[in-house]
Amino acid sequence: MHTKEKLFRILCKQKQGKCECGNANYLFFEFAHYNRLTKYRTRNGKIIGFNRLHLKQMKNELGKGRFLCKLCHRMETTKEYENTSLDALERHANLAKTAELGSKICTGYFHSGTALSPREFYNNHSRCKNCYYYDIYRRVRNKRDYINNIKIELGMCQFCSLPVRDNYTYFEFDHIDPTNKFKKVSELHKYKTSTIDIEIKKCQLLCADCHFKKTHPHFCGLS
Ligand SMILES: [Zn+2]
Ligand SMILES: [Zn+2]
Ligand SMILES: [Zn+2]
Repeated sequence: MHTKEKLFRILCKQKQGKCECGNANYLFFEFAHYNRLTKYRTRNGKIIGFNRLHLKQMKNELGKGRFLCKLCHRMETTKEYENTSLDALERHANLAKTAELGSKICTGYFHSGTALSPREFYNNHSRCKNCYYYDIYRRVRNKRDYINNIKIELGMCQFCSLPVRDNYTYFEFDHIDPTNKFKKVSELHKYKTSTIDIEIKKCQLLCADCHFKKTHPHFCGLS
């Protein structure tokens, strides 16, 4: 599909030639925005990924970012995610503080004992909505740290031997036998650690490039 677009994309990647880190394997590059808020949106506000844009939109989008290798792209997105999600919660929590005061006490992370307007709460919760979401956020983070630590313990990509360091978001769990797959490991944040352990036992650790090559064996940029 969309051969015209695919060709154009490859030409752009080729023209850039190198990632900021020096990686010159341009066929595997991904488009990364300088600012995610400037991403192309449809009239309904839906974000459309760079690879799914039409030629004209794609040309327009090029000025808002550059191509990065998978590793640099992941590192950037992870950092961004960690900053924005906590920032947003904190910002909302500060707004809640200045709201009209009521008799209800929030016992959560941001407010610890401050009285807030009852409107800030879910019906029977002792934490306001922001403190409640913070707990979910923290739980997800803990699970993610748990999974990342296992990656560090496993040590390296099973195909190319690239070592796992602070680049753990670049590594993925690949199901050796796809028929016994329950879910992607990266989608298990809401599950118990025992469930995560069972799923990881079915997998080998691969870096994103090797994983991509394995799942797209015929990939030559044009297929
Ligand atoms: Zn790079
Ligand atoms: Zn609160
Ligand atoms: Zn690898």
